[in-house]
Amino acid sequence: MTSDRPFRLDFRSIVKLRCPSCGAGRIFAGPLRMNEFCPHCGLRFEREAAGYFTGAMYFSYALAIPILSVLALAGITIGPSGSPGWVILFVFLAFLPFVPLIFRYSRTLFIHLDRALDPDH
Ligand SMILES: [Zn+2]
Repeated sequence: MTSDRPFRLDFRSIVKLRCPSCGAGRIFAGPLRMNEFCPHCGLRFEREAAGYFTGAMYFSYALAIPILSVLALAGITIGPSGSPGWVILFVFLAFLPFVPLIFRYSRTLFIHLDRALDPDH
């Protein structure tokens, strides 16, 4: 479908994890639980029943790789030399607090991009 509306990404709404349509409603009801509809404007966040958020994995990957890289470098720097097992364990444990953030932002970025590219679907 096409739209006459210009392509637009509202970075403030993305940072605040808000609805791509109104910018006011929260996308998430809890750390890992999404609202089905925007509590402010009623926009349905998951457009398709199954597999809609598969595209969010690309954003998840893009967000996670820089963090994992920094953690790996930190683990190599502060850990015992010649111990890849220690670095892997360090990266795994240090990355866990980032998982909810990456989950939320990857889905939010995907919803915003999807709505910007195809607002009328
Ligand atoms: Zn809304």
